[in-house]
Amino acid sequence: MGMRYTADDFDGDSRVAPDEALRRLAEGNRIYMEALDHKRDLSPARIRELFENGQRPFATIITCADSRVVPEHAFMAGLGELFVVRVAGNVVGPVEAASAVYACAHLHTRLLLVLGHTHCGAIKAAIDGEAGAVAPVTERVAAAIAGEDDPYRASVLNTEAAIAELRAVPELAALEQAGDLRIAGAIYHTHCGVVDFL
Ligand SMILES: [Zn+2]
Repeated sequence: MGMRYTADDFDGDSRVAPDEALRRLAEGNRIYMEALDHKRDLSPARIRELFENGQRPFATIITCADSRVVPEHAFMAGLGELFVVRVAGNVVGPVEAASAVYACAHLHTRLLLVLGHTHCGAIKAAIDGEAGAVAPVTERVAAAIAGEDDPYRASVLNTEAAIAELRAVPELAALEQAGDLRIAGAIYHTHCGVVDFL
């Protein structure tokens, strides 16, 4: 079962290519769906190894804070493998963009994946016009989905809007144009756990 990575996997150029990162994520989701192996190395030895060697995540993921959408589970990834930014509605504002820049420009992950999901509470709140304290999220989502109420289409539109926000960040755009980064989207189906890569 090939989902364990150690420091030995990072000899030489440690940066995992976008195609390989996507392949790992798709394979992880397949294992998640088939419940082939839900064991993870959370041992003190692994924690110490990551502390001593530093983190080398192979992908950066921006996703919703929804408790049912857990990238490390959905992609069967272990400690140190994914740099995850979680925020309601997987919206991208200045703080999320800055987090992505840190991961892509400094940790050198070469895949930046926005993982939206169906039946998202933030999208429902936006459709329902909720404002006040949740407005920083719902206003971004409302602008992204423009009235779409189909849960899958709305999550795709919201994900695409987040990708557009990321591409508007000069540091990320430069990395992508240089071929050092791919910015991509995917949708997690909340009712079954399947991830569709867009
Ligand atoms: Zn959500």
